[in-house]
Amino acid sequence: MSRSLLSGSVQYLKGVGPVRAERFAQMDVHTGRDLLYHLPHRYEDATTVDPISSLRPGDDATVIGRVVSKGVLQTRRRLRVFHAVIRDDTGMIECAWPGRPWLDRSIEKEDMLLASGPVRFYHGRQLQPREHTVLSRASDATGPTAVTRERGRVFSVYPATEGLTHRQVRAIVDLNLDPLLAEITGRDVLPERWREDLDLLRLEQALEALHRPSALNEVEPARRRLAFEELFFLQLLHARARAKLRRETTGIAFRGEPALTRPFIESLPFTLTGAQDRVWGEIEADMERESPMNRLLQGDVGSGKTVVAAAAMLKAAEAGYQAALMAPTELLAEQHIRTLENLLEPVSVKPVLLTGAVTGKARQYVLQRLENGEARVAVGTHALIQDAVEFAALGLVVIDEQHRFGVEQRRRLREAGLASDALVMSATPIPRSLALVLYGDLDISVIDEMPPGRVPIVTGVRGPKNRDAAFEFLREQLADGRQGYVVYPIIEESEVLDVRAATAMHEELVGRFAEFEVALLHGRLSSAEKDAVMRRFVAGEIHVLVSTTVIEVGIDVPNATVMLIEDAERFGLAQLHQLRGRVGRGAEQSYCVAFHSGKTPSERLRAFASTDDGFTLAEEDLRLRGQGDVFGREQHGVAVLRFADLERDRNLLEEARGRARAIVEHDPTLSHRDHRFLARELAERYGGREALYQVG
Ligand code: ADP
Ligand code: MG
Repeated sequence: MSRSLLSGSVQYLKGVGPVRAERFAQMDVHTGRDLLYHLPHRYEDATTVDPISSLRPGDDATVIGRVVSKGVLQTRRRLRVFHAVIRDDTGMIECAWPGRPWLDRSIEKEDMLLASGPVRFYHGRQLQPREHTVLSRASDATGPTAVTRERGRVFSVYPATEGLTHRQVRAIVDLNLDPLLAEITGRDVLPERWREDLDLLRLEQALEALHRPSALNEVEPARRRLAFEELFFLQLLHARARAKLRRETTGIAFRGEPALTRPFIESLPFTLTGAQDRVWGEIEADMERESPMNRLLQGDVGSGKTVVAAAAMLKAAEAGYQAALMAPTELLAEQHIRTLENLLEPVSVKPVLLTGAVTGKARQYVLQRLENGEARVAVGTHALIQDAVEFAALGLVVIDEQHRFGVEQRRRLREAGLASDALVMSATPIPRSLALVLYGDLDISVIDEMPPGRVPIVTGVRGPKNRDAAFEFLREQLADGRQGYVVYPIIEESEVLDVRAATAMHEELVGRFAEFEVALLHGRLSSAEKDAVMRRFVAGEIHVLVSTTVIEVGIDVPNATVMLIEDAERFGLAQLHQLRGRVGRGAEQSYCVAFHSGKTPSERLRAFASTDDGFTLAEEDLRLRGQGDVFGREQHGVAVLRFADLERDRNLLEEARGRARAIVEHDPTLSHRDHRFLARELAERYGGREALYQVG
């Protein structure tokens, strides 16, 4: 077999050599395959190039020509202008770049230049390029290019690096593309039938179209093909991880008379919403199966997740097992135990609490009841999974995931072999497409409906002029016995400066609201200090809470009805929505006011005020920020997707997931003859880095 160009070093490709190979390495291009996937980041469309002789003042033109002379001139108004005269086979035109004398260093005589911009009349015709690209250069030594050859082509502009220009990259790709494509031809990883079903190009067609399209409209179908492939293999990775967990963890089939769940649901002072009912059905079915449950329960704050989670815990209990709910902080654990005590009272199940704060005899008592199985439902912090804690038969863990707390904990739980089934609650709505990419190895249940009768929060966006009025409004609410939050974004790099800014504001508010108790919560406080402040706020001893850090997500203070957010532009939509969710927890009408500092509110703030539906906002957030940013935040900076676009490729994503799961369903280890190449492809794509892509 001849040496493979694809897997061989890029150094041995035509026009490369050891020096350029090092430059390529800086762009993470090491092999022939890497070069094949080193795709243009933009295209210059020269298919509609105008002959220079045809240009008239007033035109907006694109021309290609060779630089015949150039230089920097100074106008009377002391503006330095770079000039270049370019020529094609029909004529010559002067191009001028006012105020950009430095171009004299990057544009050389004899360069083949593509330029586009308006044609003006200025001592004759003059083109003022908005954009220009040096298409080829005599000294590049990649062979002379005639003007005529350039015309009617789309120019690929490649990511370049110091010492390796985009033109050199393009010339190298040109020299090697055919033999590289020949090696992948006929070895497509996607079956022909799929390509027909989904209208996808063959891999070599797609790569060729991306490297040298003959028209710009060839690019999108090519991208779509690579997007599907990328989504499919990521979903296959997720599906295999899910199957592995199901295989290696002995699950529990929680079956039994609904001796607790039925009376529990009947005891509720309301009926479940359609969404709760559906999700409860999904969880029940999942828990009854032999295989372990690994499920994400998503829903906006107040959508009724806790009620559903309580039912799941009772289901474990009625099948003879224990269930534990883990919260990220003691305060949240204490809040959960109060909620659960109330919810479970009608069915006579008494949950126990275990946190670091439970000590001495009380702790011994709880430990003992967990060990002998008398305690069927437990609530706590990570203290629950420490060595000294023994469960008689822990079957289900519910994780209240805040700040992505759950990832590590779940891994540890599983490694410890503590509980087979896991339900992760998340109050951060994310679009389904993003959830499938980030949490594709989990099953996902979504409560996308709010309980009826909730009083919607009134949201306002106000400029600097209306700040005073908003604070006076807060005063009225305080006078009525309500409480409020004033939140500051973290502005400075330095925490000290932030604390100083917040301290100044705190002092101002102490003066303004002299008759009320105003307290400050900031990131420099120890967690015990923060905890103490929060407790006093919960108890109603503090009326206004000024805070720099995001107030502990999930803390409910039903009496708090006002949320003022300073410099709201500095928060992301998801954060703003989280903050708003801190009010509206009681029966009273609640208000949220976001202050903007500019003249008019940003698009993001307008979106924020326009709806209080977390899923709608999450979609909007994805649209406004773009997926790169979303991934950066969610996924430890790993750019998960190179080709796929979560908005445009929604349908492809569903297809990819469906097909990946169907394959793994029948062949969980991908060891069937027909599937071995899939396993190989996975190893090639994600080898050793699987963990980065999985959170379950
Ligand atoms: P989440 O955990 O999603 O924030 P909770 O389960 O705490 O939401 O529910 C929020 C509030 O709504 C609670 O007071 C709860 O009793 C109430 N609630 C839950 N489900 C319903 C329902 N179907 N109808 C009416 N009220 C409900
Ligand atoms: Mg809750």
